[in-house]
Amino acid sequence: MSLVATARPSTAGLLLDLVRTAGTISRVELAQSSGLTAGTITHIVRDLIQNGLVHEVGRSQSARGTPRRLLQINPQAGVAIGVQLDRTTATVVLVDFAGHTLATAGLRGAGQVSPEETLSTLAGQVDELLTRTGVARGRVLGAGLVTHGPQDRQRGVLLTDQPAPSWREFPLTRTLSAALQVPVLLENDATAAAIGEQWAGDVPTATFGVIYMASGIGGGVVVDGEVYRGRASNTIEIGHVALGSGGVPCVCGNRGCLEVMAGPSAVVARARQDEDLTARLSLRGSPDQTLTDFERLARASLGGDAGARALLDESGRQLGRAAVALVNLFDLDTVVLAGSAFAVAGPQYCDHVARALSRHALCRELTPARALLSANAATAAAVGGALSVLRSSATGARGRFAGPRLVP
Ligand SMILES: [Zn+2]
Repeated sequence: MSLVATARPSTAGLLLDLVRTAGTISRVELAQSSGLTAGTITHIVRDLIQNGLVHEVGRSQSARGTPRRLLQINPQAGVAIGVQLDRTTATVVLVDFAGHTLATAGLRGAGQVSPEETLSTLAGQVDELLTRTGVARGRVLGAGLVTHGPQDRQRGVLLTDQPAPSWREFPLTRTLSAALQVPVLLENDATAAAIGEQWAGDVPTATFGVIYMASGIGGGVVVDGEVYRGRASNTIEIGHVALGSGGVPCVCGNRGCLEVMAGPSAVVARARQDEDLTARLSLRGSPDQTLTDFERLARASLGGDAGARALLDESGRQLGRAAVALVNLFDLDTVVLAGSAFAVAGPQYCDHVARALSRHALCRELTPARALLSANAATAAAVGGALSVLRSSATGARGRFAGPRLVP
């Protein structure tokens, strides 16, 4: 079974999300935030309380002196799993119904391993986290599998030969669901990172862009608090925007895409052409070790290695140009950098993006655009995947309320 990717949450799901984001909130504030009538709020909140998803936690005084009963999410109402996977890295998280992270584990990515074996390893890691945290499988609402695109969310498959031809059309969500015995949805990694960043609450605006860099480069945009999904949730593929004519061929069929010109693989490949640098930093050059090599270059750059610094600077300038395009297309004033490639190299890239935005964003005189580095660069996407489960399952209580729509 797989969680069908619903375009919008139900009204109950929307209210749950508002309570989850606020932490503590009254019915009056819920009505103000949602635009729903007091009567609708009363009706839905009563159902949410009866189903154990929300509980009352005391009262506050309103401006007119009338006591207001306060609501909070019941964190015990369920658990969601987030699994981020790409060629070189994987992260597994468990979050409670309030969206708080219960446990995290990092492991190797898909590499040269088959989809079957990769998903089996990930399922084993989930089992270990469930055991470690004492969470019964019956409390797990579902899992969000977060990976690169292009993907078909409805069918839970990738539409690409990356990282190997065996991954194209492989039934990812069905296989992981069978292993975990919970529903699984597929989510784009950059989109999930945007959801994770929004949830972390460090982004001081409801409209912002994300540039996600791990093994590849992707993007996400949140508009007025809602993730922009485009036609089929394969949005903001900024890694496949060509920065100039000519250039290196890309797997997508274009030439000169940002990903092949400036992504970690390109930086490492350029570094490997320098024998001294390769020997000095023990760069391995294996596709499965790209992020390890990239991290070595980033550490060397931080430590003052001029060769490493020049390579990252060149990549950072290209990422800056892409950030300007993103800001100009969506009228943004904030771009967040997230993804495991920024775990060490983040500050250097953030400087380049900030400089490019301050010099070249079209509306910089009206609203100066800022670049922010995620405080959770390596885990934001996995957390976003788990939050997608909480949102897609609407009320989260399988079978007891308007639970997730299941497909065979
Ligand atoms: Zn491309």
